[in-house]
Amino acid sequence: MGLLTEGSPLSWEETKAYADHVRQHGVIQFLKQYNKLKERTKDCLYWGDEVEYMLVKFDHQNKKAVLLLHGSEVLHKLQQQQKEHSQDQLTTWHPEYAAYMVEGTPGKPYGGMMAHFNLVESNMRQRRKEIQAVLGTDTTPMTLTSFPRTGCPAFTFPVCVPTPNEGASQSLFFPDSVIFPDHPRFRTLSRNIRERRGEKVAINIPIYKDINTKSPFTEDFSVLGDDGEAQRAALPDHIYMDCMGFGMGCCCLQMTFQACNITEARNLYDQLTPLCPIMLALTAASPIYRGYLADLDTRWRVISQSVDDRTREERGLEPLKKDKFVINKSRYDSVDSYLSASACSDIKLVYDKDIYHQLIKGGVDDLLAKHIAHLFIRDPISLFSEKIHQNDDEDTDHFENIQSTNWQTMRFKPPPPNSKIGWRVEFRPMEVQLTDFENAAYTVFLVLLTRVILTFQLNFLIPLSKVDENLATAFKKDAIREGKFYFRKDILTECSPPEASKCVSSCLPGERLCCGNGQDLYMQMSINEIINGKEDFPGLVPLIYKYMDNAEFDVDTRCTITQYLTLISRRAAGTLKTTARWMRDFVQNHPDYKNDSVVNETINYDLLLECAKISSGEMKYPDLVPVTSSKTSNNIPDAVSKVNNYLDSKSKNLQNSH
Ligand code: ADP
Ligand code: MG
Ligand code: MG
Ligand code: MG
Repeated sequence: MGLLTEGSPLSWEETKAYADHVRQHGVIQFLKQYNKLKERTKDCLYWGDEVEYMLVKFDHQNKKAVLLLHGSEVLHKLQQQQKEHSQDQLTTWHPEYAAYMVEGTPGKPYGGMMAHFNLVESNMRQRRKEIQAVLGTDTTPMTLTSFPRTGCPAFTFPVCVPTPNEGASQSLFFPDSVIFPDHPRFRTLSRNIRERRGEKVAINIPIYKDINTKSPFTEDFSVLGDDGEAQRAALPDHIYMDCMGFGMGCCCLQMTFQACNITEARNLYDQLTPLCPIMLALTAASPIYRGYLADLDTRWRVISQSVDDRTREERGLEPLKKDKFVINKSRYDSVDSYLSASACSDIKLVYDKDIYHQLIKGGVDDLLAKHIAHLFIRDPISLFSEKIHQNDDEDTDHFENIQSTNWQTMRFKPPPPNSKIGWRVEFRPMEVQLTDFENAAYTVFLVLLTRVILTFQLNFLIPLSKVDENLATAFKKDAIREGKFYFRKDILTECSPPEASKCVSSCLPGERLCCGNGQDLYMQMSINEIINGKEDFPGLVPLIYKYMDNAEFDVDTRCTITQYLTLISRRAAGTLKTTARWMRDFVQNHPDYKNDSVVNETINYDLLLECAKISSGEMKYPDLVPVTSSKTSNNIPDAVSKVNNYLDSKSKNLQNSH
């Protein structure tokens, strides 16, 4: 989660009073760094993943599985080890929102070598092993996107009680003591989001209507101490949730890519944007919330609503009086503009005009200025007294404050000050999978796709309004099999003059990538067609194979990648289930399930125990993940020597044949 600054958090009123100060200095800080670093070039194509884990405790006697709130101790031990092995460090550990979560990344970013693709999975396995080693028996680190019974009575160990009338969340279901305790940031965010909005957040997710589900489905919250707010906010036939923890307590799989320069980073940001809904649907893994089967398969809408701090004025429910903008989306949502293609950015972009002009004056171009001025319509939602006054030549905390609380599908990451790190983009929509094999597969698929995009100069751009429509499709149950997604027809061509003439709002001079608004630039396809191709569309997996034909791989790496691509290809084709579909089937076939959408403690226990066995490889479901581990290796020198051997033998063969 971006930068975590230590210190004493200000109250919401105090933070609000400094909002303009933070924005003003944030923009100055961005401009300083931008002008210093905009010409920076020749950075490597580094990349890395982030995996979030939940600590799950099993009570086998009573058939209960609950979330263990020991994240802080676990993190402390992991970071201690990290310090001791700082030389050849394989893993890095970070705090996350909930006290039952930790986040792990590789010790160093990958990059440059094809053999690195063969390190991802074993590094993920290493991370799981490291967490497991500091946990007690009957406790397991799990890569679950959402815990099925978050917010149900006694869903944690130790058991905590919600405090609806006091504290940060004031939730009927989610106790404040479930928030990560060591750092005040998370609690402060929860409180300030609620206070800024003027009421609790309201998360409503359509419930899956089974034959015995109460109809209309409604709940009585007065028994939990509701003063009427929940009853008013909860929609019929929806699972209602009321605080940040329900969303930020979900786990995900993120990727960061470094580009060689800012132009390439902007291009990657744009090209990966239309892939966000596709990858969300392909990774769908969260069909259960607060003990009920949902009608959606992914976490995105939960998390988006869980941090929606817009006031009633900003949501357009009341005329603007105190606030500046009517804002169409939560701060956790899809991106609203491309960074290098104006014509395709066809959705209303709300941005701060003063900040935009300040950026233009400071030498930033129109599209990037709009992007930043759009991020800066938000208030800072946490501020620490020690960090109010900064040296704008050196610090970027105010910029990062706004940047890191704009949780969008993609993030454009400028280089940190005084570092070797270059311009990066982050890919944020994916749900985390049960096995390291699958997480590695999605990671490697995406990295290879970036290489394919850059090598073949692919163009995936379609109007952003269509990307947003795709995202809404991606949320849905079984989107992968049933959804149709807008996708660009001809991904191999850039904007040519006849195409440009079809744009309703024409491309700006010098813009390479135009998507046009003409109907015939994109078509609706299934995920299967997008990933595996069809008559008139090459498919992303075949394109990766084509790219691999001309790249140098050792045998093991090629074998591993082939297994990964097979998984993606089969998920797309529907011959393998998504995690969400598998979980639904497990619940619906459970002897305790009464066709009423309820996932009770026993079903939850059996489901999670099975998930834990899938993660460890102890249990195999050929209709979910037929292969659960590849020939992955953790040994970097070994991987390097394998590549060298391969290249040697290849050049010898070449010499022999001459
Ligand atoms: P955040 O939570 O802000 O996204 P993290 O530090 O958790 O940031 O994760 C950053 C990711 O970027 C990790 O996967 C890491 O391996 C990767 N990474 C680190 N340095 C670079 C770099 N120079 N280029 C690309 N990726 C990098
Ligand atoms: Mg991240
Ligand atoms: Mg995280
Ligand atoms: Mg992170």
